[in-house]
Amino acid sequence: MGKRERGGRWVENPEDIGEVSDPNFVRLPDPRSLFAFRADRMRSLAAGNPLGDYLTFLAALASAQHALATGLPDPPAFAPDLLATRIGAAVPPLAPDLLGDESGRFNVLLTGLLDGVELAAAPEAARHACAQVGRMPWPERLQTAEAIFTGSYPAEHLAETVFIASALQVFLASHAAALPANRLKAVGDGVCPACGSAPVASMIVSWPSASRVRYCACSLCQTLWNSVRIKCTSCGSTKQIAYYSSEQLPATVAVETCGVCRCYIKHFGRHQDPALDPVADDIASFGLDVKIREDGFRPGGINPLMISG
Ligand SMILES: [Zn+2]
Ligand SMILES: [Zn+2]
Repeated sequence: MGKRERGGRWVENPEDIGEVSDPNFVRLPDPRSLFAFRADRMRSLAAGNPLGDYLTFLAALASAQHALATGLPDPPAFAPDLLATRIGAAVPPLAPDLLGDESGRFNVLLTGLLDGVELAAAPEAARHACAQVGRMPWPERLQTAEAIFTGSYPAEHLAETVFIASALQVFLASHAAALPANRLKAVGDGVCPACGSAPVASMIVSWPSASRVRYCACSLCQTLWNSVRIKCTSCGSTKQIAYYSSEQLPATVAVETCGVCRCYIKHFGRHQDPALDPVADDIASFGLDVKIREDGFRPGGINPLMISG
């Protein structure tokens, strides 16, 4: 397809993927390594990026997530009956009822994140938002966390959501890591089978068990789930799928658009760049979002760290 103005262009399917070698449906997160991996990626992407200062702040936040994740005790075991009921009913096992009360693990974790994050070089708005969350009473923290968990980011707390969402990512990743991967089932297009959240992006991966296979990356619990390629992750249509990229970005970064529901999602080639992180790279390629939104597409995924960015 022809080049377009404004530096963006429609491209052929960026990866003509070979045959699938029976991939596992889900890959559960490893909370003890993924946030450190992300912090490194954010630092390396920050140099020369229009959102460099924000990425540097997020790298500090990811480092604080890593410190928490490595010190976290294993979550309490999931009640076997409840787990079986939810999986049997095609309901994601992880739900807002995990968040508990004021003395519970989530509030302790959130407070630990606010205390542990290094904000000396952060934008003033981020320092202010951190202090605001610190002053939030538990019922308000819970209400905001539940809203994020259900995908409805509260307009009155947008700046604060990045801290609460970051705590949720650590909390839910630790719970997701303890789920039985081989029992989780698909619950719907664009829905994480572990926690029910929207994906942040999709990626082509190459692992020994899954060569050049597409996975969606959960925006909250960080689980990866297998998704048929060249299929809209929002509405499930396989018609009118197209790819859009930018000359300013590496060939491993594109957006996949759906002409049926007019949604788009970032599409990354991690098999070609193993350092690629779906959350970090999504933010670093925000210029692509701007261009594709000008064409009337809306996000099919969500990046909890970019709501206020
Ligand atoms: Zn999830
Ligand atoms: Zn669609």
